[in-house]
Amino acid sequence: MAESQETNVRVAVRVRPLLPKEKLEGDEMCVRLNTNAAQLILGKDRGFTFDDVFGTKTTQVELYDTCVQSLVNKIFQGYNATIFAYGQTGSGKTYTMGSGNMSIMEEEYGIIPRALQVMFDIMKTKTNVDFSIKVSYIEIYKEELQDLLDMQTPIKELHVREDDKGNTVIVGAREVECESLDDVMSSLESGSAMRHTGSTQMNEHSSRSHSIFTVVVGQKWTEDDVLASKRKQSESSNDIFDDEISHYMSGKFHFVDLAGSERAHRTGNVGDRFKESVHINSGLLALGNVISALGDPKKKAQHIPYRESKITRLLKDSLGGNANTLMICCISPSLSSFDESLNALKYANRAR
Ligand code: ADP
Ligand code: MG
Repeated sequence: MAESQETNVRVAVRVRPLLPKEKLEGDEMCVRLNTNAAQLILGKDRGFTFDDVFGTKTTQVELYDTCVQSLVNKIFQGYNATIFAYGQTGSGKTYTMGSGNMSIMEEEYGIIPRALQVMFDIMKTKTNVDFSIKVSYIEIYKEELQDLLDMQTPIKELHVREDDKGNTVIVGAREVECESLDDVMSSLESGSAMRHTGSTQMNEHSSRSHSIFTVVVGQKWTEDDVLASKRKQSESSNDIFDDEISHYMSGKFHFVDLAGSERAHRTGNVGDRFKESVHINSGLLALGNVISALGDPKKKAQHIPYRESKITRLLKDSLGGNANTLMICCISPSLSSFDESLNALKYANRAR
């Protein structure tokens, strides 16, 4: 645990409850937790240990408080953060992240609405800082970018670039300035409605793409405010405080709903659909390689393979370095998902 905190990469597992339909069909659970040891046991005896394990009764707010709140605080100190939801289709990725559907009950709100609500609350308490919140929403489908906030933007006009300070920027992506949680949620909701879904044999609405919802928190303030408060403290000062020096700081928060982790051959598709699976898996594979390299102190000093896929290039300035990364591996508890759960757990275990 100490090691993963050092490297700023944290891996959590969340097991969703059996769905009513699964219960009706007589599906059995094949997952147990040993929460004291942060351990998950698949089947009879396959144990996996993570930074956090969340069971079927873990609420949205519990998950948020345990592993998201600290990242929100860091954003205000100018550090970037990325949260991933990983797992097979139907395992609870979108439920965990929150999709902008505000018609659900408040206790069911996922990570994104909670994080943004807290951000707006924090902003209200700091009256001497001029804040801005900008969101963008990008989908990666077959290794191509699509702007979910502006579907008119041709794919060819979106590019991932690195500026001279090492910041990653998506040239051509629409950024929407938001004044309130409602503004943020309406962007998230309309963008989510644009996501590619395809009909595969495995799941009608299986998500074949990665989606990245990005929130940039900008903070502007003038030195004058700081000096003014110092001046009050030292009465004897005769300095002149005419010059206002303005400062700007920003933190970037990516919320990533990854493509389903189910393997290509399981979907039983050929041709175009198969090509999709290959692309999707190459992104997940590259991401796994980057996160595993970041978590390994020996590899860390060496080469981190960001360039292997679009998703790792796009997230480069928010993975590793001073940025904080949280991977949430979502697991279905049912026996019929045993193989996929085992694969997902192996992937997440490698990320530790
Ligand atoms: P994914 O995005 O991984 O395909 P979803 O988030 O759409 O999966 O979840 C599949 C179904 O399971 C949805 O009906 C969702 O509401 C439900 N679900 C997922 N996680 C939970 C949970 N922790 N508690 C209750 N229901 C959940
Ligand atoms: Mg989903």
